[in-house]
Amino acid sequence: MSDCIFCKIAEKKIPSKIVHEDDKTVAFDDVNPQAPTHVLVIPKRHVASLTEMNEVDAGLLGHLMLTGSKVAKLKGIAEGGYRFVINTGRNGGQTVFHLHLHILGGRPMHWPPG
Ligand code: AMP
Repeated sequence: MSDCIFCKIAEKKIPSKIVHEDDKTVAFDDVNPQAPTHVLVIPKRHVASLTEMNEVDAGLLGHLMLTGSKVAKLKGIAEGGYRFVINTGRNGGQTVFHLHLHILGGRPMHWPPG
């Protein structure tokens, strides 16, 4: 989508610190990290949020999770543990409307989240 910031990152039209890339996803460092390691994994295809996904997207969603797990290993946080977050919609705290998986690690996480 032409005015979507994460589409622009996926198309390399704006700079980002890319951690991992394959044919379906791009993973890059969050510009405003909330933990020592904070990476976002996005599908290259524009999808506004988890709410827009359905049964035909099951493979892509599984791939997003497995890519997140791979990134956690690449970043050295897998052994210590990490958290996946997908903020969805207004009450979910979503601010960028291109589906993204947050990977947070490098410090103990709190529960419940705010
Ligand atoms: P959310 O609130 O779940 O929609 O998360 C959006 C995330 O995108 C926030 O953690 C932002 O810091 C991050 N973000 C926004 N713009 C950029 C950018 N240009 N490069 C990297 N991360 C970004």
